[in-house]
Amino acid sequence: MEVICSDKTGTLTKNEMSVVAVITADDLFDTTDPNEHDNQINQTSSNQALTKMVETALYCNDTKVTYKGGVREIIGNPTEGALLDWANQMALTENVKEISKLPFDSAYKYMATLVDVEDKRYIYLKGAPDVLLDLVEKEVSHNQVKVFDESPWNEKIATNAKLGQRLLAAAYKEVSNTKETLTHEDISSDMILVGLFGIIDPPKKEAIEAVRVSRQAGISVKMITGDHKDTAMAIAKDIGIENYADALVGKDIEALSDEELEKVVMSTDVYARTTPEHKLRLVEAIQRNGQIVGMTGDGVNDAPALKQADIGIAMGIKGTEVTKDAADMVLSDDNFATITSAVKEGRRVYENLKKTIYFSLPTAFAQGLLVVVSLLADRPLPLSSVQILWLNMVTTITLSFALGFEPLDEKGMTRPPRDPKENILSSYAIFRTVYVSLLLAGLGFLVNSFLGSKGTSIPIMQTTLITTLVFGQVFYMINCREIIRFSITKTILSNKVLWYSLAILAILQLLVTYAPFMHVALGTTVITGQHIGISVLAGLAVFIIVEIEKTLTRTFFKPKN
Ligand code: ADP
Ligand code: MG
Repeated sequence: MEVICSDKTGTLTKNEMSVVAVITADDLFDTTDPNEHDNQINQTSSNQALTKMVETALYCNDTKVTYKGGVREIIGNPTEGALLDWANQMALTENVKEISKLPFDSAYKYMATLVDVEDKRYIYLKGAPDVLLDLVEKEVSHNQVKVFDESPWNEKIATNAKLGQRLLAAAYKEVSNTKETLTHEDISSDMILVGLFGIIDPPKKEAIEAVRVSRQAGISVKMITGDHKDTAMAIAKDIGIENYADALVGKDIEALSDEELEKVVMSTDVYARTTPEHKLRLVEAIQRNGQIVGMTGDGVNDAPALKQADIGIAMGIKGTEVTKDAADMVLSDDNFATITSAVKEGRRVYENLKKTIYFSLPTAFAQGLLVVVSLLADRPLPLSSVQILWLNMVTTITLSFALGFEPLDEKGMTRPPRDPKENILSSYAIFRTVYVSLLLAGLGFLVNSFLGSKGTSIPIMQTTLITTLVFGQVFYMINCREIIRFSITKTILSNKVLWYSLAILAILQLLVTYAPFMHVALGTTVITGQHIGISVLAGLAVFIIVEIEKTLTRTFFKPKN
């Protein structure tokens, strides 16, 4: 993955919202100031704009507060939960009944309700300020309804959005007592603006760290949100997004042609006031730049973008079933940091797959060579078929597992993503396979003919050869902990499986050498310390030769990793 496009709310931020500011035409209430608290509550009935703000927060709200096992819990949308929390502290008791409503949708970005309050009917509307500012015709100021004056509101919006606040505007109008249904038409005229709610949704600490790690790993992080441009840029800065100082809004994306979008998409990291439909175009534009892109999403409308992305990432908690079905990966904790962990795990798996291949090919070839060369040379086989099977089995069930449990090396998350076209069997891998096969088999023949020249018995020669090949493979496995760097690193002790596998192998080898029933089954026998010494030396020779070759390759060819 070279680019991650992530939703902001709930993925990069905590989705724990709280109202920090209530802004009306005449006042700015800092709701976090404890000294102001009583004063604000006392004004609830005398300040008409404030009253209407409380009413909108309460009556245009789908969330409920419950007490589950004594613990207070808000059920529903966190944005509305924040409004409910704030409004519940204010002194307002009215007789209300909800008649009809238009639920919130990211596509039109507002919610409206038709409510009966003390036997009068009102429409309450709340939503993204830029949407509402285009709708309203009047405003509440100095306890009166006046003609709407847009420019001071734009200033208020800009000021608070730059503080990273998610802003919602509130509006209302009185309607006839007989009105029973609510349509989008109903809010297109005579709406009266009352004010703005400033809500804070702090970034997740882990997300900040994860964005840093991703950038270090050569992955560009792009943030997508339905929030206001200034809010988005402020949060992007806090989170550590690279190009936080500039943002593209949904309308800009629509105005750009595919070619233009393709050009700007690589240098733009913040996308604001977007709807899910914009995500698909973003994914396609990034892909046309030849990049591998991951895209997160939760809503049904996100599914096409997730499907199109190389890695579609659905939210496990917030996500709809449709989105999860369309995704390649489901984040069970909805947390951006988990994507970075997955990248790390993916890199580890790929590296270890490579190491395992580097290990298994030459060791398998060497065993084959021992047989083939002897056959071609018309000489007796150095090992019996049962012995070869045994050797193959014990090294496979022990050694080749160990490399799969290697941790990712220190530099693993500071390297750029690998070229997807990279072939695991590079020319270097083939070179390594060829010479290590020859080396292992050659050492086997060498040990064999050395013992043969001394008139050693066949069972001793065979047992020593098995031991030699086992040590050769053990040492070569250590070589393969690092493909090109020096293989003995600080982390060698942390791979427990490596040590367990060596312990199991040692037990099996002791059985082959010293257990009488194994002697019967495999035709092996007890060998002396001298023979074991020869085997260890042969193994060490493999280790040293491979490390010298790696050093030369590093010096002269300077491979990337
Ligand atoms: P995101 O998923 O990035 O938070 P949304 O599309 O959900 O984007 O929200 C975009 C804007 O819509 C918010 O900035 C806010 O102004 C408004 N909004 C969000 N939730 C609600 C809601 N429940 N009712 C009314 N307006 C809302
Ligand atoms: Mg949302």
